[in-house]
Amino acid sequence: LSRGKCIRGDDVADEAALGAARVRVCARFRPLLPEESGPCGRITWDEEDAPKKVHTIGGRSDAGKTFEFDRVFPPPTSQQEVFEDAGLANFLDAVLDGYHATVFAYGQTGSGKTHTMEGFVYQAAAQGKVPQVNPSRTAPERLGIVPRCIEGLFERMEQQSLQSDKSFTLRLSFLQIYNEKIFDLLNPVHLTNHGASSGGNHGLRLRWNSREAAVSVENLFVFECRTPSEALNYYKAGVKNRTVASHQMNQASSRSHSVLMLTIERRSEASIDRTSKLTLVDLAGSERQSITGATGRTLQESVGINQSLFVLRKVIMSLAKQSRGASKLMVPYRESKLTILLRDAIGGSGYTLMLACISVLDSNWEENLSTLQYACTAGSIRNRPVVNLDPTTLLIRQLRREVQSLKSQLSLA
Ligand code: ADP
Ligand code: MG
Repeated sequence: LSRGKCIRGDDVADEAALGAARVRVCARFRPLLPEESGPCGRITWDEEDAPKKVHTIGGRSDAGKTFEFDRVFPPPTSQQEVFEDAGLANFLDAVLDGYHATVFAYGQTGSGKTHTMEGFVYQAAAQGKVPQVNPSRTAPERLGIVPRCIEGLFERMEQQSLQSDKSFTLRLSFLQIYNEKIFDLLNPVHLTNHGASSGGNHGLRLRWNSREAAVSVENLFVFECRTPSEALNYYKAGVKNRTVASHQMNQASSRSHSVLMLTIERRSEASIDRTSKLTLVDLAGSERQSITGATGRTLQESVGINQSLFVLRKVIMSLAKQSRGASKLMVPYRESKLTILLRDAIGGSGYTLMLACISVLDSNWEENLSTLQYACTAGSIRNRPVVNLDPTTLLIRQLRREVQSLKSQLSLA
């Protein structure tokens, strides 16, 4: 491999011994769209059945590099293949076992993030001037990762309830971070006024929740879902709301991060024993927001969006340095809403999959290269997944131990 090689250092045995799991990273290339034309080919991938390497070619100094991923998906890889080969079934199994997991799509606007996460059914709504779902585009094979995860979680919950005394509850919430403010995509009050200009809606606050030992979003709507279609309907409603809000706000969907949270509570013998979370994120476009001519709210939006992605990149770089053996650095999680929320996902206690979305057009070269670099760097970060025992269960266990020890002290006295 030539200069620019990205060393993954993934020694599986070593990882198991450390109780660590590397952030899994896949690169997905989207095909040229019918209305597009222009040269392609400065970025290529290995001609294999399951490619893992991406090469940049050409005579320039930034060409001649090789980037290695867990998997590369050249066009036209189907939605089903992406779901299977990115390893999402393992993620869902882990969530049911009590681990947190996060999937996020990274890339410039138009690179296929929303297509990968949502799929055509919802894309149809997201693209149209008037949100509507075109029935001819609702074929199941077009569904993206989110609807497949919802289906997969329900399938697993049903199977495990049949085979054991366990039962599960799934809760869903869906938010958007726009201009460093958090908005509930399922709360009608939040939909009409995302604007900073009127000062009417400041967004939701993040709060440290000591019971759960985690940050939570204050007053975020949470919906309990009993069937996959119930969960999908909430999801679709949120996507539609995101689209409507986006049209009101200068195409905000490319400048906002959408975060869907699916929380699974597992009960066994009538008490909750594990609570885990699957977080599915469609990030804002990673391109530099042009601030030329931007004034007032637009300028503030540009800065805000840059802030979250800028901090996400800083977090990635700093954790990657640590995994290469640098001494402990201060990781700047607290500098943006997004990184506070995704803390578990990056260098934290859950499993993470990053999907780097890339367009094949050479005109997107600079942004594609930047995406490849950040994604490859993220792939060297090690998380330390832990099972999330329910806080109340933990407290009961601790109190039982204390009672036990007090009893034995009494009997000794
Ligand atoms: P982003 O969310 O990154 O801005 P989109 O997901 O909206 O990008 O994709 C931009 C356009 O490309 C959309 O019209 C989408 O339908 C299309 N597209 C993206 N990825 C694919 C793909 N893998 N196959 C076919 N069309 C795609
Ligand atoms: Mg999008």
